[in-house]
Amino acid sequence: MPIKSIFARNIFDSRGNPTVEVDLVTDLGLFRAAVPSGASTGVHEALELRDGDKSRYHGKSVQKAIDNINKVIAPELLKAGLEVTQQSEIDEFMIKLDGTENKSKFGANAILGVSLAVAKAGAAKKGVPLYKHLAALAGNDNIILPVPAFNVINGGSHAGNKLAMQEFMILPTGASNFTEAMRMGSEVYHHLKKVINDKFGLDATAVGDEGGFAPNILNNKDALDLINEAIAKAGYTGKIDIGMDVAASEFYRDGSYDLDFKNPQSDKSKWLSPDKLLGLYQEFVKDFPIVSIEDPFDQDDWNAWAAITAATNIQIVGDDLTVTNPKRIQTAVEKKACNCLLLKVNQIGTVTESIKAHLLAKQNGWGTMVSHRSGETEDTFIADLVVGLSTGQIKTGAPCRSERLAKYNQILRIEEELGAGAKYAGKSFRKPQ
Ligand SMILES: [Mg+2]
Repeated sequence: MPIKSIFARNIFDSRGNPTVEVDLVTDLGLFRAAVPSGASTGVHEALELRDGDKSRYHGKSVQKAIDNINKVIAPELLKAGLEVTQQSEIDEFMIKLDGTENKSKFGANAILGVSLAVAKAGAAKKGVPLYKHLAALAGNDNIILPVPAFNVINGGSHAGNKLAMQEFMILPTGASNFTEAMRMGSEVYHHLKKVINDKFGLDATAVGDEGGFAPNILNNKDALDLINEAIAKAGYTGKIDIGMDVAASEFYRDGSYDLDFKNPQSDKSKWLSPDKLLGLYQEFVKDFPIVSIEDPFDQDDWNAWAAITAATNIQIVGDDLTVTNPKRIQTAVEKKACNCLLLKVNQIGTVTESIKAHLLAKQNGWGTMVSHRSGETEDTFIADLVVGLSTGQIKTGAPCRSERLAKYNQILRIEEELGAGAKYAGKSFRKPQ
């Protein structure tokens, strides 16, 4: 039963920017996938093809990527006659057809849309849920539900406030199952809204791109204090840990880190050396229940990365550093630069390569955190991916805004379906068993 048709169209992501949606039809029906898009993109990522015509959508239209699917990838794939269960063959076929190192001919946003739709059709062909199909593709027979990392305070390039560090997350590692983790996340989130309202007023409770609050604070420690207070008010102290995504590449200037980077008149004498910034992180880890820090340094500041990984026991996550790219991951392993991979399907561009990237991380003793992008859609693929790969952790925004909740809600459904057999990663989220 080969593919009957593939059709791509333009839809809009959660920021109102154009993105690619793919409809793939087999004898079993229609399978639809949509492609996410990031704001803080690493320079080493696979290429997201945008038209660059400033008179249309500020240069962000994706008509070329759509045409590449409808005029080249679709007819060639149909001709090849591959089955939708042949995920790796189909992905390999598209990679060869593109022929570039970073998918710049067709665009990773074109190739990924097709790859995701193929996986959904493949699951239907096998008559299993998507997470089980992905688990089989990855050779995983131990299904474990992830700890959600809720991004409850937003800064960096995702928010219009002064805060430099991009994400402050809560991880309900002390929950006994995923459903309870959702309850904890939701309750703390609403306590946090009240804490921020009481301190800064109602206009400080507006939310950023990922549904977290974006109060106009400058001191990153204040964000941690707000979260600690909300956790305490909700009665979950000791049951919820804290994670951060610093996205430090965004404020790396001439070898230093500018924690006031959104201020054009920022005081250069206050910029921090890598050593000073490391010292700040160590204070945070001492004073708060921080278990994970992502992108603590610039994507090419390798020495600083190795220093923090050697200096702490917490999880150090590579995102801009590793960009879900096997070569970058290998280099990071050799340099002992981090100990966890942030897995974003659109950074690498196919389902098969995403699975391989996770397995490469795992083989080297790393953890893997599956991630959404700041520009998201209603597609819930990554919910099934994190369960199928059983990586133990997912970040897909605050418990707010439906393009974020869509993923968490899908994991709730999976937990319900697994019933008594469901396992929650909890405290062992870095190496779930
Ligand atoms: Mg990041």
